[in-house]
Amino acid sequence: MNSTKHFSVVIIGAGPAGIGAAIALYKRGVKSVALVERSDKIGGIPSLYKKKKGGVRTFIRWSRGGIPFFGEDYAHWLGEQLSKTDVQLWLQSQVIEIEAKENRITLVNPDEGRVSLTAAAIIMACGSREETASERGWLTGARPMRVFFTKQLLQLIDGNGLLPMRNPVIIGSDLIAYAAAAKLKVAGAADAIIVDNRRRPKCSYFERLYFRRWSQPNFRGVAAKSVEVVGSKTASGIRLSREDELIPCDGIVLCGELIPNSELALQGNLKVELPSRKPVVGRDSQLSEPGWFAAGNILGGFHGAEWCYFNGRRVARAVINHLSQSS
Ligand SMILES: Cc1cc2nc3c(=O)[nH]c(=O)nc-3n(C[C@H](O)[C@H](O)[C@H](O)COP(=O)(O)OP(=O)(O)OC[C@H]3O[C@@H](n4cnc5c(N)ncnc54)[C@H](O)[C@@H]3O)c2cc1C
Repeated sequence: MNSTKHFSVVIIGAGPAGIGAAIALYKRGVKSVALVERSDKIGGIPSLYKKKKGGVRTFIRWSRGGIPFFGEDYAHWLGEQLSKTDVQLWLQSQVIEIEAKENRITLVNPDEGRVSLTAAAIIMACGSREETASERGWLTGARPMRVFFTKQLLQLIDGNGLLPMRNPVIIGSDLIAYAAAAKLKVAGAADAIIVDNRRRPKCSYFERLYFRRWSQPNFRGVAAKSVEVVGSKTASGIRLSREDELIPCDGIVLCGELIPNSELALQGNLKVELPSRKPVVGRDSQLSEPGWFAAGNILGGFHGAEWCYFNGRRVARAVINHLSQSS
């Protein structure tokens, strides 16, 4: 049988939003908070962006006058703030099930196996993932070698010091795409060609201006209904089907829209908007069951890490209201 432990508040996900919430709860005197993270380290997505001499600082702290950070440094700063609290950190603990009406989550971890946690309030801060152009049906063709998601590219360049392509094409045009173009250029590739089915890049003018010091990618807005990956063994180009034009390359990066990691919410019968997958949030920041909250990128849209950190803090205030009303 599972063991069950009780807390005042349980937070799922130790990215910027979950940590922001944990720190705010501690500062406002809430005792007995558990922060549950499936990875073996805290920090969420920023922790994947390694610090490198001459590297690209892709995390911008607008509250500090727009100072750019390496993701790893940002995650380190979050860790320092968290270490000053008495929040109980559960690393390598993947939440596999939630029971919304019972305010219960079940996790698995290597030391204790299956464990259930119950709490007066639960915050879902599970982040988001990329929905690629192919999921949206815009990118067709086979998937030969050298077609990567942004996360895989990060792992190769920052994690293993490898450069998987020299003449890249990037599909998608938000901040992540421009950050990937800059990273590739710094690692030794040519300026990327960025392709998207919109007239202007999704990345804002100021963000593009920021990345210009490292790379000046060429944006191609394509009106075609779909574009096709070309190449039998390895990717050798992108065919813009309506114009029948081929953009040659030796590697493709797929950057997609971010969609909420709301699988747990769906599994637990919390209300989720479809097809956007955003959890439905009421005016008091609660989800469709009382005592359940969401913070950070799980709420949908693209937000930088700092927005998520402050959103976590804001949601913590709503949690405190809920705790005071229910006690
Ligand atoms: C590929 C990618 C690249 C990005 N690049 C940039 C960039 O260069 N600059 C920038 O400003 N922003 C970037 N962003 C956006 C930025 O990372 C986010 O705004 C921010 O990290 C979101 O914070 P969060 O806490 O909501 O989610 P996340 O940082 O995603 O953290 C969520 C945490 O929840 C954990 N988790 C999820 N499910 C479970 C579960 N079932 N059980 C336990 N733990 C779980 C995850 O392991 C993760 O640690 C990027 C996002 C993505 C997806």
